[in-house]
Amino acid sequence: MLPRRPTRQVTLGDARVGFVKIGGGKPNRDGTPTTPAPVSVQTMTAGYTHDIDACVREIHKLAAGGAHVVRVAVPEKKDTDALKHIIPQVQVPIVADVHFHFQRALEAVEAGVHKIRLNPGNTNDRDQVIEVIKACKARNLPIRVGVNEGSIIERKDKQKRMKELGAVFSGQKHGYMLAIMIAKLEEYLDIFYEQDFYDIVISAKSMDASLVVDAYTEISNRFDHPLHLGVTHAGPKETGCIRSIAALSGLLVNGIGDTIRISYANDPIYEVEDGLELLYSLGLRERKGVDLIACPTCGRIQVDLFTLVQDVRKQLAEQVTVPMKVAVMGCIVNGPGEAEGADVAVFAGDRRGIIYVQGERVANVPEPEILDRLLKECLDFQGRVMRGEAKLGEKKVDIIPPDPIGELGSGWEKIAGGLVEKTGSKPAELTVGKT
Ligand code: SF4
Repeated sequence: MLPRRPTRQVTLGDARVGFVKIGGGKPNRDGTPTTPAPVSVQTMTAGYTHDIDACVREIHKLAAGGAHVVRVAVPEKKDTDALKHIIPQVQVPIVADVHFHFQRALEAVEAGVHKIRLNPGNTNDRDQVIEVIKACKARNLPIRVGVNEGSIIERKDKQKRMKELGAVFSGQKHGYMLAIMIAKLEEYLDIFYEQDFYDIVISAKSMDASLVVDAYTEISNRFDHPLHLGVTHAGPKETGCIRSIAALSGLLVNGIGDTIRISYANDPIYEVEDGLELLYSLGLRERKGVDLIACPTCGRIQVDLFTLVQDVRKQLAEQVTVPMKVAVMGCIVNGPGEAEGADVAVFAGDRRGIIYVQGERVANVPEPEILDRLLKECLDFQGRVMRGEAKLGEKKVDIIPPDPIGELGSGWEKIAGGLVEKTGSKPAELTVGKT
């Protein structure tokens, strides 16, 4: 597990939807020790909150997909009115995303929301902010202070705006923008501290991945509140994924970040899937379901691997809950190596596939049968793991790869003949990391 930056901890939720802890490692203000919570994944509904049934359906879908927290927009009173009907129907903590109208925050608190998000760029009347803080404090609700590059520059006061914009465009790359974000954050948080309110999560988003890295790094040095990471307006999934992962993975590897949201101009279920996969890949959460390994294919491929991988991914996502490793490999070059490290694996040859379970060869089937047989082996293996008859990651035999230049590498006859040897010999011990 990567080391985490110790922070204060906030908790959101209730006995019915469950509690989600964010951050931790530092004692809370009453002296209670906290241990760092696993990094959580958040997302935001894309539909109208006032469309109650659709909103409930969307929240159910996101929660079933693995979202730990779901945020909803509440631009109008009809949205906060709808929250009263939505919250009792869902099984995940709900955050109200408030901009411009502090009244929406007060209404959302009344409706039973589990956390409020405020934007210092557009909800900055001191007295109004204090009202929201008091309402949240009375109900033990945390508040996320979300500084956002897109809304942090002053827009009402033109003179001030020009001065700030001038500062942004002169000097070093992120210097002035960072200074503005930090200054606004400090100024805003002072209002909270004056009210003795510390149940705070901070975010500082930008569409510029390198500014996100600089901003969160700077904020993590200055504040001990947990951090909500995100790249805002990251774009469509295809490019937004790279933009988000570029910023978030660097921060997470350095222990910065306690909850994440990946933002796409797409169905938010992808934000959940990719957020979870990022955390699984970095070992920051225990994987649920299959860890699928697949080769990128090349000129050696002799089966339709792209279709096979997509079919395997879809079916296993629906049917497998234990975190087994499954490898789908195109040929004998890397197939045996990946098959050896996987719980269930297939490597293909000329229109055939050899299937392994924990290193033991269990089948050699023609291409049309690969999918069904692989799924059967995965489900059988899952059943054995659940009954305690098999252990994940336990390899029983080593696979000796056949000579790729020889006959087996160039034809299916050898694969069909099962000329893949098994041995009980132990591989040489790795020395990496031991010096
Ligand atoms: S496993 Fe074989 S088909 Fe797949 S990329 Fe490697 S060499 Fe190519």
